[in-house]
Amino acid sequence: MKKRIAALLLAGVMTVQLTGCGVLSPLVTFITNMKSSVGELQLEMEEEESDAKVNAEKKRYQDDFYEYINEDILDMVELGDTDAQWTWFGELMAVADQDMDEIIQELSQSEKVYPKGSSEQKIKDMYECISNMENRNATGLGPLQPHMDTIRNTTTIDEYVNALASLSGEFGFSSIVGGYYIDQDMADSSMNSVYLMHADTLIGKEYLENPQMQEYVDVYYTYMRDMLEEFGMSQEEAADTVSEIDILLRDICSSSLSMEEYYDPSVTYNVFTKEELQELYTNVDVEKMLKTLRIDSADSYIVLDVGQAKKINELLVDENLEVLKDFSSFVMLNDVAEYSTEEYARLADDLDRQMHGVTSRLSDEDIWMNLTQDMLSWDFGKIYVEKYFSEESKADVEAMIEKIKEAYKDIIRNQEWMSEATKEKAIRKLDTMQVKIGYPDEWPDSMEMMQVTPISEGGSLLSNMLVNMQVSIEDNLQDLNREVDRTAWSMTPQTVNAYYNPGNNEIVFPAAILQQPFYDPKGDEASNLGGIGYVIAHEISHAFDSNGALYDEYGNYNVWWTQEELQKYKELSQSIVDYYGNYEVAGMKVDGSLTLSENIADLGAMTCITSILSEDGEGLAKAFSQLAYIWASEETVAYQMYLLSNDTHAPNKVRVNAVLSSCDAFYDVYDIEESDGMYVAPEDRVGVWK
Ligand SMILES: [Zn+2]
Repeated sequence: MKKRIAALLLAGVMTVQLTGCGVLSPLVTFITNMKSSVGELQLEMEEEESDAKVNAEKKRYQDDFYEYINEDILDMVELGDTDAQWTWFGELMAVADQDMDEIIQELSQSEKVYPKGSSEQKIKDMYECISNMENRNATGLGPLQPHMDTIRNTTTIDEYVNALASLSGEFGFSSIVGGYYIDQDMADSSMNSVYLMHADTLIGKEYLENPQMQEYVDVYYTYMRDMLEEFGMSQEEAADTVSEIDILLRDICSSSLSMEEYYDPSVTYNVFTKEELQELYTNVDVEKMLKTLRIDSADSYIVLDVGQAKKINELLVDENLEVLKDFSSFVMLNDVAEYSTEEYARLADDLDRQMHGVTSRLSDEDIWMNLTQDMLSWDFGKIYVEKYFSEESKADVEAMIEKIKEAYKDIIRNQEWMSEATKEKAIRKLDTMQVKIGYPDEWPDSMEMMQVTPISEGGSLLSNMLVNMQVSIEDNLQDLNREVDRTAWSMTPQTVNAYYNPGNNEIVFPAAILQQPFYDPKGDEASNLGGIGYVIAHEISHAFDSNGALYDEYGNYNVWWTQEELQKYKELSQSIVDYYGNYEVAGMKVDGSLTLSENIADLGAMTCITSILSEDGEGLAKAFSQLAYIWASEETVAYQMYLLSNDTHAPNKVRVNAVLSSCDAFYDVYDIEESDGMYVAPEDRVGVWK
């Protein structure tokens, strides 16, 4: 028997299990995770085997709280052969996806003609372009080919850089130089600035430079070879090209920032004038490139990865021209593969599955519907809000946010290592923090700008996809030399997630996260505090994590701590790095540095939630159980390894157990002994806010 797990659990979620021994035991409920599951979850109910399970030893909460709470649900979760991961976040996303899919199906089968430019017309025609494989195969690389040729036909580095700049300026294709985006300036959060992007290193430094990942690098290069053959190269030519691109990529990566450095504004915020940029890129006519990109009117440019830029400049010489052309051609093919012919799309899908340890393909129909949602995400967002959003829940959650902010203020006031002046600034940062819930007041311009040309009028999936890329560029260019629009959203309302944006000093909760298991409008307070409350407290805590602490209340990158306080903060951070580095998943150690800012946010959230519940033992037990439950997850080994190398969050199990083991209130509520798995000596417990 297979069922969607949400349907089953949402029906009977909030039940408290109380066990004997005078110890309050965990309430089984759930919460969230930042990665969505890749596909459908299949739930296997194996009645015959239940006896064996009873006999099997039950995990003790004293040894592994996460397993204790989630044992039953994880027994029921069986990753489908099209899944890389199962989490509550992913599960709710899948439920929202199903609702959207119904809309697509209805529209695609309807005989009605919808007004040009309406969401209905766009969805109906986009789905037709996506699902009409005959049209996709006949289109081939059609609309892309002339652009591809501009790269293939270059005979000098100068021509090559020009071609790249044109493609980046018109569509946003960027491989090695010329990529950019316009976004809030880190030091002056009221203004937008131009960020010059790093090179596309494809599988990336984290895989290329880690011998444990060699298996996946091989998979990637097989894909690259197949793509190049499909593009028309002979087997031998393709193999040689891959070897040369490998050398090029490793060379670039050796001079590139690590993932962790990438999140550090003190490393990435490098302001260059045009003249300085010309000194950096001695092999490029910078003025001409900026003009082609239509960003020459800016006063300055931010170079995120200076070391890599120097390396790339070195590589931009005529003897590298052939490998650079091949590399850029492949990047373009890779960017459009899933929107192209059946064969290109299949290769891209196979790669994705192999990289994440997924054995089976989704059905064609599921792939097409996902693609339709991706291409028109804001149109779907608007429909989602109209159908599902509740203003009452919004008011309720707003009240909870106020309560959590007040709790943080008390926590800050109690910190002995912070000066009064710094405490005041921290409290001001809380007071001025903007809160966004549900959906934006105004829908983004890009939604109107994105128009879909149906097949009957000469459109194709690839041509519409190129329009989509153009819209992103034009929309972004509107921000050049303009003040920041602080009302904009970085997530669609149907996203099951939340974020803190240090540049705006704001926390944002899309409509879709205001539902069970995160939030139950009829649920009790402690359980909701362990669910959405913990998520809120986590996001607020990001204002004071290792990156957020470097931004002031206006969102400017501006250090507002004293030297001694920063020193103390660094010591506390180092103890957190070391603490998490002791945990291990899938034979790989957790990277305490990569996950530092998220771990600080988790630890802070726990301090906040436990301070609100204070002496309420039963409430604390409910909150602990709820938050352990929301992190229930199951992954393929490949996906675990991918997350350990790339995700700034620690693995979910560690997120639960490490935080609880550092939480004094956890020891007050449960009888944890020194010999227990969850036990950490008081002097070894970590956190910035204790
Ligand atoms: Zn976070």
